[in-house]
Amino acid sequence: MPYVTAWSTERHRIPAVVRHPSGKGIGFSDEMPYDRDADGVLWVRQTIGAGTGRALFPTVHSLRQRRAVSRLLCQVCGADTLEQDPERQLFVLKDVGRPVGEGELTTAAPVCPPCALIAVKHCPHLLKHAAAWVERPMSWGVAGILYDQRTLLPLPGDDLIKVSYDDPAVRWVLATRLVLSLRGCSPVNVSDIRTTVVAR
Ligand SMILES: [Zn+2]
Repeated sequence: MPYVTAWSTERHRIPAVVRHPSGKGIGFSDEMPYDRDADGVLWVRQTIGAGTGRALFPTVHSLRQRRAVSRLLCQVCGADTLEQDPERQLFVLKDVGRPVGEGELTTAAPVCPPCALIAVKHCPHLLKHAAAWVERPMSWGVAGILYDQRTLLPLPGDDLIKVSYDDPAVRWVLATRLVLSLRGCSPVNVSDIRTTVVAR
């Protein structure tokens, strides 16, 4: 099972959301230091139980997604892609009708080349995909649930909202995904990757 996939026993738990003592942003009523990342953003709590229950495709586990994206671990096997190639990482994204663009925002972790070939064959959402070698995957912000500053209730909408670390609104987001900005992109066909790897 892919490293970042969530299992049915791994449930999101959202404690009571309160106004942060600073007045700027949200917090949990029983907040602990590990509820926030290094940039001070509040993260959803999710129980950990990979391997138990059913794998929930295409649901992603927030903590494993964050770890895979921040450390550039392969989203399928969990291997360190920086160790395999310190100069560039392979990203395979859902097809949006164009090649992967400079500064593309994504919640996807990289994949190692052998896993890319498996992923495009077996992941339904990647049957149609766009791939690129990326020289500088930069931490950009988070995706999550935006809270109303007055009512402290989640704003309506089904989609996760992407907010950059530079935006003051990030204090009002309950993060569920880390977002990267992909810089130094060279689009590639996954079917060509095997030969690319051999050539290096
Ligand atoms: Zn892999």
